[in-house]
Amino acid sequence: MGIIMGLRCKVCGKKFEGGLKFVCDKCWGPLEVDYDYDVISETLRKDDLKKRFFSLWRYLELLPIEDARNIVDLGDGGTPLHRCRRLGEEFGVKELYVKDDTVNPTLSFKDRPASVAVSKCREMGINTVGCASTGNLAAAVAAHASKAGLRCNILVPYNIEPSKILQTASFGTRIIGVHGTYDNANSLGILAAEHFGWGMVNINIRPFYVEGSKTLAYEVCEQLDWETPDTVIIPMASGALLSSIHRGFKELEKLGWINCNTRFVGSQPNGCSPIVNAFKINSEITPVDEPSTIAKSLAIGNPASGYEAIQVVKERKGTMDSPTDEEILKAMKLLAKFEGIFAEPAGAITLATFIRMHEDSEIDASEKVVLFVTGNGFKAPGTREKIIEKPVEIEPRLGALKNLVDSEET
Ligand SMILES: *Cc1c(COP(=O)(O)O)cnc(C)c1O
Ligand SMILES: [Zn+2]
Repeated sequence: MGIIMGLRCKVCGKKFEGGLKFVCDKCWGPLEVDYDYDVISETLRKDDLKKRFFSLWRYLELLPIEDARNIVDLGDGGTPLHRCRRLGEEFGVKELYVKDDTVNPTLSFKDRPASVAVSKCREMGINTVGCASTGNLAAAVAAHASKAGLRCNILVPYNIEPSKILQTASFGTRIIGVHGTYDNANSLGILAAEHFGWGMVNINIRPFYVEGSKTLAYEVCEQLDWETPDTVIIPMASGALLSSIHRGFKELEKLGWINCNTRFVGSQPNGCSPIVNAFKINSEITPVDEPSTIAKSLAIGNPASGYEAIQVVKERKGTMDSPTDEEILKAMKLLAKFEGIFAEPAGAITLATFIRMHEDSEIDASEKVVLFVTGNGFKAPGTREKIIEKPVEIEPRLGALKNLVDSEET
């Protein structure tokens, strides 16, 4: 297609041909995919998009795959943007939206980066893929590897709850429990990528992997008829998602499709908030050795894209916050009760942050706010039991039901 020009260092700008590189050999900066936006804006009009199927692959020209036959697609992305009238009313905000990525094929937004990364591995002729994961990425990579017929190795902390890898195991992948934390598993992943040449999607395939997540920005802008939100609230683990969504907005601006003054807000759980802490005291990131939170999908103590996330939020005049587990649970309940959306803690955290901002009068009633809800409640067994009540029991007689209804109405 001639649209992808290779890789480029985000720090010093040095250009590379592509392939398995992910850090700059001159300055150790992270690499990103380099596109020719002039060619893209000549070949792709935003009105053409409407005619295409609504998955992330409708934005093919803006994704790093050269031959569409390499695409590994489970129907990733193309998720609803819900207008949340009831929650909006509750908090006095006219236009509140949830970008609902709980309904992806493996029930989290990680299907987006996994779909792009596994497709790229296929394109590069890599036949063993894998990742280090806190759970969701494992399921997404394993599912796409199954679809593509590639071998798959997943590195997880050895003490991960069995329920978190049940879905992954069902895809027949090799799951390796590493003694230590997620960060130890990730370090081993770096060595494995180098030694075996595996495509570890969030390590040596990272420049391509992060491209999948930027489609969240494209979809939201398209769903808002190319009007940009005033504020977006995004959960952070490594910080990659927030940086990728920002990249998506910037690219649409380059194409002349949007004007973007969007404020970016990042959110981490109180029990693991190295990025938020560094942002608040304007200092280096201090890794968290032992994350402790119900938002397990966000429990990354040493965030690989933390500095980038901080830069984006500063540039976008935004802010960061770290709600407590209790606030996250409350937000889970509210999302379900007011809007019918069943989210895992890592997804509901954006509503918890919104509520804090509302209480501090940091959200204006006239704002258009988008909360990114990134994972499904079924991803967090153990937590979901905390937000539900036991059903009442009655005899199978109308009289018993009447008694119950009457007692609840008085
Ligand atoms: C991975 C994940 C995130 C954030 O991931 P980053 O590492 O910051 O890109 C957010 N929500 C859910 C549900 C996740 O699984
Ligand atoms: Zn560089």
